[in-house]
Amino acid sequence: MKFTFLGTGTSMGVPTAGGFGSERLKGDPRDERWRCSAWIETEQSSIVIDTGPEFRLQTLRAGITRVDAVLITHEHMDHISGLDDLRPFCYKQKQTIPVYTSQTCKESIKRRFEYMFGPDRYPGATSVELNVIEDSFQFQDLRITPLPANHGKVDVLGFRVGNISYLTDVKEIPESTEKLIKGSEVMVLSGLRWKPEHPTHMTIPEAVEKATKLEIPRTYLIHMNSRVNHKQSNQRLPEHVRLAYDQLILEVD
Ligand SMILES: [Zn+2]
Ligand SMILES: [Zn+2]
Repeated sequence: MKFTFLGTGTSMGVPTAGGFGSERLKGDPRDERWRCSAWIETEQSSIVIDTGPEFRLQTLRAGITRVDAVLITHEHMDHISGLDDLRPFCYKQKQTIPVYTSQTCKESIKRRFEYMFGPDRYPGATSVELNVIEDSFQFQDLRITPLPANHGKVDVLGFRVGNISYLTDVKEIPESTEKLIKGSEVMVLSGLRWKPEHPTHMTIPEAVEKATKLEIPRTYLIHMNSRVNHKQSNQRLPEHVRLAYDQLILEVD
């Protein structure tokens, strides 16, 4: 299974519009972070997790030519606003693309993208089918397990796909979900910044503590803000935790 980080940045992206924080980037391309999204590719399947504001650019940058399914973590715009850019894939593949998410997120997507659904559907609009998932399911050659977690008052879904557990925009992970993550070879987990603590996101030290507790051999952090320097952060992190960066590719069994 090939896993590509399409984006690893926090909600505003890094650098942000207007240049706030860009003075810290110092020319390392790993410090430029588009909004969080990931691409999983196997012999039979090509699926993406989240479709944020850079989704079109991310598909072109990574060379994605097919999208069989989409997993959506939650309804914040940095994770769903690119849904409309599935349109060329619908045309090319001549199909409705299945989207898997929670009940709350499904309702939110229907409200925000009302022109894609219902009797007043705009002709030619993106054609997606919204599926609510509560348990593990098989999609082609992939076993997918939803990982419910908390993002402040917002519920989010992480996803375990084979041996990778992907969780973004997480503050708390309930014990029942920790059991589902355990045994993963790789965990992807959000870590907003080193400090101070944040009410709805784990900081990097909180993410490291979780990765260590769950005994995951390799953890990659995502959803970092513009204050997080890639090189300096990796020097501070324990060996089993690394900062991810856009276009990083992992091969996982
Ligand atoms: Zn986010
Ligand atoms: Zn969020």
